[in-house]
Amino acid sequence: MNIYKDFKNPDIIEKLVRKIRTYKGKTIRIMEVCGSHTDAIGKYGIREILPKNVTFISGPGCPVCVTDTLYMDKAIELSYNPNIIICSFGDLIKVKGSQNTLKGAKVVLSPMECLDMAKSNPQKEIVFLSVGFETTTPITALTLKKAYDENIKNISFFVSNKTMPNILRFLLSQKVEADAFLFPGHVATIEGYEFYERFCNENNLKGTVCGFEPVDILASISFILFEKDNFKNLYGRFVSKKGNEVAQALVCDIFEECDTYLREIGLVKGAGLKIRDKYSDYDANTKFNLKYDPKFVIKDKTCLCGEIMLGRKSPLDCPLFGNSCTPMKAFGPCMVSAEGSCASYYKYKSQ
Ligand code: SF4
Repeated sequence: MNIYKDFKNPDIIEKLVRKIRTYKGKTIRIMEVCGSHTDAIGKYGIREILPKNVTFISGPGCPVCVTDTLYMDKAIELSYNPNIIICSFGDLIKVKGSQNTLKGAKVVLSPMECLDMAKSNPQKEIVFLSVGFETTTPITALTLKKAYDENIKNISFFVSNKTMPNILRFLLSQKVEADAFLFPGHVATIEGYEFYERFCNENNLKGTVCGFEPVDILASISFILFEKDNFKNLYGRFVSKKGNEVAQALVCDIFEECDTYLREIGLVKGAGLKIRDKYSDYDANTKFNLKYDPKFVIKDKTCLCGEIMLGRKSPLDCPLFGNSCTPMKAFGPCMVSAEGSCASYYKYKSQ
């Protein structure tokens, strides 16, 4: 297949939709773990074409949605220091701490931009707010390594990165009612599909590593509904069994596993990353004595986001949805991020 055209090909899409609509089996709940899938499912109207006995439920894979309040409070505290330039990916700028939002943070497309900023602002401290899953962690690791190798001293990283495998194990421990999973293709590009295959086989669950185009998602649904095997890698154009081992080695050199906190959900053992002692000069938590520790996060049950990210509720169950909570005046994190379930349901008017 042509990777640019065929994954949006109307003939292939129509054929898959017709097949999916013939499904008459038991009720299937498919969890799209990742915010990029939530967005793609809404954007391409895929919820609307499903038979009644097949539903999508959201998981906790939107990095901005799961970034906890204490982390944001500490980042906001730094942003009020006139000697510090805070940099972050776009959506984090809008996320609230317990009281307010970041002051004057700069949006970057890559943390690498922070290196130039550090060189051209030697009198300032540059702090990159590093959140995200396996997809974005390698570029943070590479930036930190470059800063270390080039002995750039006025840059540091405030880290709240998460890892997918322990979050999936946590979901099972929470008895989420998912019969099948769409696993994020970009995350698997880095870590490989081996873990996901084992996860499905060991737990007798169905799942695919899935891309983000309509044909990727429809082919995944078709596999889940009609095939006997538990698992298939349907993002073979980028994902191998072992993944990107160069990126994995780099991440492993810079970071070690730690516990983390998923906003409105709770503490998840071993699903976070922290900077290794060797690189502690680049850890904003140490450099600015922030005392950020996920075990001290207080659960802020402000809305249904926690239940939505565990697949127990839909954004449409929330009485605030579309009334007092919209992307223009978001009440909870799932409405702030473009990849949050509430924002996606609102934007694409999903049923
Ligand atoms: Fe929270 Fe708003 Fe979503 Fe309701 S609609 S769950 S208040 S983000």
